[in-house]
Amino acid sequence: METIIKPPNINSTGIRAFFTSRHFCKSHASIKEALLNESGCDKDKVYLPVQKHTNNVHVLDLHFNPVVADAVITKRTDVLIGVIVADCVPVLIYDRARKVIGAVHAGWRGTADGILPHALLKMNNLFNSRPDNVLVAIGPSIGKCSYEVNTDVKDAVENKTGKGNYYEMRGDKFMMDLAEANRIQALNSGVSELNIWKSDECTFCNPDKFYSYRYAKETDGRQGGFIGMW
Ligand SMILES: [Zn+2]
Repeated sequence: METIIKPPNINSTGIRAFFTSRHFCKSHASIKEALLNESGCDKDKVYLPVQKHTNNVHVLDLHFNPVVADAVITKRTDVLIGVIVADCVPVLIYDRARKVIGAVHAGWRGTADGILPHALLKMNNLFNSRPDNVLVAIGPSIGKCSYEVNTDVKDAVENKTGKGNYYEMRGDKFMMDLAEANRIQALNSGVSELNIWKSDECTFCNPDKFYSYRYAKETDGRQGGFIGMW
């Protein structure tokens, strides 16, 4: 029973980065306990933003107060930052030169708002992160096989992402690959294709392994993506 998935690109640098499956912890209430067991990170050093499908990128400094944001970036080396998801796309970022980490929650709204490019730009503006030093890992999310959207959602995502092979028509709907849209947005931001890892697992098609909001038609379970530099 796989409890975590380690993106090889970021893990090869020696820092911690992982995506969790539904077997990682029994309930969301116990997630910090499970993170302590997995990563040795104390509960009071785990930072998760208050996710609201915004395009806010929070810069974590000494203040640990909860902030409404769907991405976190930081240079702190004593923390584990992360996002939680159940079909939406979790993205982890590491600038190996400037030692900056980021975690991004990209649903269709976040993708249409370009939250990943926004986070990369903020890393560049605040910490001088250059895209060619940045590694990106895109975790399990609902795939093109299973994510049907209306034209308005397709148009909103396409507006920000541009051309690409991340959706196709089915009847009068569209099947959307949000993970691929985010990969293209990372490429458009200047991240090298070689530095991007993307999971090929669909949360909807693997209900025994992942929580899926669309599959379960409920909101309780969450998996996540987490990253820390120590
Ligand atoms: Zn699927």
